[in-house]
Amino acid sequence: MIPISLPVWFLLVLLVHLAGIFVLSIYYAVRRFRRLPHRREASFVFRCSSCGHVYFDRRNVPMAECEKCGAMNENIKSF
Ligand SMILES: [Zn+2]
Repeated sequence: MIPISLPVWFLLVLLVHLAGIFVLSIYYAVRRFRRLPHRREASFVFRCSSCGHVYFDRRNVPMAECEKCGAMNENIKSF
């Protein structure tokens, strides 16, 4: 058996516990990061004033062109 002095023994125990806490914190950080829902890109809802077609646009623009008739419309709701 290797003789270990008391201060070295304390240092070893301290380092082992710190390493355990470090590994656990990394484990929980990775787990929390994986559980976070990926943030959805905000989409804006447009309703065409001439044909009534409802469509979405992910760009943050004040007006978007209707896919069916080509008229420009303001957004009515944004998520
Ligand atoms: Zn339209």
